[in-house]
Amino acid sequence: METEQLYKYFLQCSGVTTDTRKITPASIFFALKGDNFDANTFAQQALEKGAKYVVIDNPEYKSNDNMLLVNNSLEAMQQLALHHRRILGLPIIALTGSNGKTTTKELINVVLSKKYNTTATIGNLNNHIGVPLTLLSFTKDTEIGIVEMGANHQKEIAFLCTIAEPNFGYITNFGKAHLEGFGGFEGVIKGKSELYDYLSQNIKTAFVNLDDEIQKEKTQHLSRFTFAADNYNCDIHIESIKADPMVTVKYNGVDIHSNLIGVYNATNISAAIAIGLHFKISEAKIKDAIESYFPTNNRSQLLEKDGNKIILDAYNANPSSMQAAIKNFTHLEGSKIAILGDMFELGNESLEEHHKIVNSLIHENKIEVYFVGKDFYSNKVESPHLHFYSSYEDFKEYFSTIKPTDKTLLIKGSRGMALERTLDIL
Ligand code: ATP
Ligand code: MG
Repeated sequence: METEQLYKYFLQCSGVTTDTRKITPASIFFALKGDNFDANTFAQQALEKGAKYVVIDNPEYKSNDNMLLVNNSLEAMQQLALHHRRILGLPIIALTGSNGKTTTKELINVVLSKKYNTTATIGNLNNHIGVPLTLLSFTKDTEIGIVEMGANHQKEIAFLCTIAEPNFGYITNFGKAHLEGFGGFEGVIKGKSELYDYLSQNIKTAFVNLDDEIQKEKTQHLSRFTFAADNYNCDIHIESIKADPMVTVKYNGVDIHSNLIGVYNATNISAAIAIGLHFKISEAKIKDAIESYFPTNNRSQLLEKDGNKIILDAYNANPSSMQAAIKNFTHLEGSKIAILGDMFELGNESLEEHHKIVNSLIHENKIEVYFVGKDFYSNKVESPHLHFYSSYEDFKEYFSTIKPTDKTLLIKGSRGMALERTLDIL
């Protein structure tokens, strides 16, 4: 079935889904194939659960006129998303980078929604399935679309750009994440810069943090709208004032107090301010939007428990976000405990990157550090303030007996470490 014909069916539907557990009445269900499943087998079930149409790519399962047969369901969904995006013709801002995409996306969304009807990526749906789903969630009322793009290997961002055709782009940072898939740090720069390549080839605009040398250099020949804290030669100058632990920035003489922890969030906030100004949102509304935003999920939340202040950053971790979190933590006052879990997906560089983190804490003897996980454990050193556990269970057994009070705690590790479990044993 051709994309244009499929589009007619799509327009009759209330929404799109790829998960039978999330089917809503009158939606269109795309039966995708995963490593362990083939959703063609759920085609009938999807209709029974209320889907109006089901897109399948295996003729054997076609038992009903409302089952639409295509060559490849995933590709059909991606092409449908592109078609829809073109028909709507709205401005789209694409975001990628190693760290801070979701936070920045949410900040941009709260700022822009002060004036426009915006639709942004829901949660973290940022891959080859999530991006088309995001695009298909735009309606004729959507005035600006904000699309998070994730990648863990080359050509992924280039591909996502061909579906989303963004008018604007922002790369949050180039960090040490997914080193394995990208082929080292140079590979990360190349892979993320595919967004710049797209913007450059299509004469679109990049938002650029000029304090970041890589961004600055890579966007020299692009149409760009710039911001910076250190560099006065930019379109928008925003200062980072403090992070104690909530971040405050200053624009045009006015302090903007966020509810976000971590100095690195000053950049994320600045990007949202600059983009808001570019889209002609008033300074007062931008300030209001940022000051009213509270992060959700496990992203840098500040919690209080038994007199302890807990910076819970257990959503994910990689060498750059880990270093950023540690740097921020070393600047905080009080008696401190850091609980740091292994960082995943680092391939050959894993042991070395864990080693660097351990090294960076050797002289920070005001922080009691608990390293949890195999790769940290492999870098074990003898030091009175550094403690190593090869598994969460071993750590738990010891840490349950401590019962800290009046401490400031940092909890950070890769998603797979699920260090938020620590809250139960505090
Ligand atoms: P994912 O790859 O999971 O989609 P993401 O890029 O969307 O991640 P966020 O979810 O916004 O990133 O933030 C994840 C973590 O990255 C934060 O909790 C924080 O530790 C770190 N982080 C956020 N912003 C930055 C930044 N600008 N520079 C470095 N680290 C950051
Ligand atoms: Mg994200």
